[in-house]
Amino acid sequence: MYKISKDPDGIVLLCHDCSHVDRIDLFDEGGGNRRTQAARAMQNHSRDKHGSGSVLHPIPRNDALMAQRD
Ligand SMILES: [Zn+2]
Repeated sequence: MYKISKDPDGIVLLCHDCSHVDRIDLFDEGGGNRRTQAARAMQNHSRDKHGSGSVLHPIPRNDALMAQRD
């Protein structure tokens, strides 16, 4: 999970569970909507570091499938 905050330099996504921060202005417009990219990066961080699911795109069915394979 994360929350979106705004500081003088732009919009930042703050991890709820640690001090990790993703800055929207560090993402390249060429890769698509920067806010979407930042949200995706934060979701990846949250999943990798904290083992929590995606905020915007929960995938319980995929998780269940993978668990069954394991
Ligand atoms: Zn974190």
